[in-house]
Amino acid sequence: MSLSQKAESIASEFVLSDDDVRKCSKQFIFELGEGLKHVVPTVCQIPTYVTKVARGTEKGVSLAVDLGGTNLRVCSVELKGDTKWTAKHAKRVIPPETMTGSNGAELFHLIAHEIDQFFQLHHRDTLQKLRQSKDVLPLGFTFSYPAYQTSINSGILLRWTKGFDIPDVINKDVCQLLQVAIDDFNLPVEVTALVNDALGALMFRAYTLPLSQTRTSVGAIFGTGTNGVYLEKLSNITKALGTHDDSTGEMFISSEWGSFDNGLLVQPNTKYDMKVDQSSINPGNQMFEKRVSGMFQGELLRVALNELYADPDACLFRGVQWDDPAQGEGPAPFFTRWAIDTSLLSIAAAENAQELTALSEALVKTLRIPANHVSADDVRAVKTIADAIGKRAARLAGMAIGSALIKGGRITVDRNILPVTRVTEDFSGVEAVDIAVDGSVVELYPGFERYMREVWRVIDGIGPAGEKMIKMGVAKDGSSIGAAIIALIVANGRASHTATP
Ligand code: ADP
Ligand code: MG
Repeated sequence: MSLSQKAESIASEFVLSDDDVRKCSKQFIFELGEGLKHVVPTVCQIPTYVTKVARGTEKGVSLAVDLGGTNLRVCSVELKGDTKWTAKHAKRVIPPETMTGSNGAELFHLIAHEIDQFFQLHHRDTLQKLRQSKDVLPLGFTFSYPAYQTSINSGILLRWTKGFDIPDVINKDVCQLLQVAIDDFNLPVEVTALVNDALGALMFRAYTLPLSQTRTSVGAIFGTGTNGVYLEKLSNITKALGTHDDSTGEMFISSEWGSFDNGLLVQPNTKYDMKVDQSSINPGNQMFEKRVSGMFQGELLRVALNELYADPDACLFRGVQWDDPAQGEGPAPFFTRWAIDTSLLSIAAAENAQELTALSEALVKTLRIPANHVSADDVRAVKTIADAIGKRAARLAGMAIGSALIKGGRITVDRNILPVTRVTEDFSGVEAVDIAVDGSVVELYPGFERYMREVWRVIDGIGPAGEKMIKMGVAKDGSSIGAAIIALIVANGRASHTATP
């Protein structure tokens, strides 16, 4: 087989047909349902204890910290009460040694230290005033790892994902750990709400939408990891639930869909997926995330290209001499895990198949291959495979969002299911269904939304008419602001309950 034929053949292994999508969606809706009834280890449907969506009229000041898979962010937010807001941000990369250390206290000390620095940099006066008045600022903790909540401000870590591995923290309440670390710095801050990034993004978008518009009901993240939250009827949540507000009859549920179909009943599975899984820190887990999220797509591409390279007929990077480890260069990136970042797939997708200069340059730089060993055919082969991996990820992402919309009863053109948002014959005057997304993959991968829309059009229960109703917006870095909004809503709610007339 020639290089291009072999590349096409590898790419074809990543194809997810419309039939596959429909099969996945059925199983997805089934798993969402199971997670509401039982404590399951996979799509565990974590109740968030957030029962209302932001209306855009909330007012006040609050804080948030966001422990992402790559970055630690701190922010303060002032809500003006008219869908407008201002925020201050700080961001740092999480040192890899902290992510896999043996000591959880170190991680929470690092977070509290960042909050302390943030006060020193942006809010010295506020800090003094709060200390004098003995007031505290509410803080929303954006913690996007499966943590089981029995209230809005507690969460027991079930397992780490996205490259974190600190066994010491598992089965502990992460809110309490953070509060202890904050108290060590003597900061006037109370951890008021534990929020995952998907719910944060959703709340942020909901707050900023024009007041007259339908509020957001699904939030999804496609960054280092992937997850989605959606609004579910309380009556459908039949497993044990802690004390909660039942005035709305609904609650946001964090699906933890990264673990969808861990048993691989319906998901596509290639030998590259298997290799990536096998060399991960959690083989057999987060099997959906391993096909969809930013952490894994680049690695899938690297593994697939290794296969292509190993085929002597394909002649990928013909004549290349890899760096000699004896010369102190270490193994070539091409053979090193994680050497290809998912941003390379975005570069590939943005390139016109005839030109490919940016992708060629990126390959030379990323893989440290002399430019004269990267032919036009090589770059085209890389693009073919990269595009297939990116497209499959986006289609699976669309399948997940679409299934959550159906499960939440937000959208349906099937008259046998009671529609929450009524769909008329001609679809005029139809209310939109709003979803918030965030994460570098959905924000930056060219065509991600287009691929998701293609999927919505073929899913049973959405279809072409339903797809038109779906409005989607990127809540860029909204997860921290959203967590601050939730913390404020909780704090204001408490104040209004305890206020004496
Ligand atoms: P976090 O998950 O920490 O909140 P992000 O949302 O920025 O951070 O997601 C980081 C992930 O996005 C990384 O896995 C990275 O490989 C991927 N990524 C970064 N830039 C791009 C891009 N241009 N296109 C696609 N994926 C990207
Ligand atoms: Mg994020």
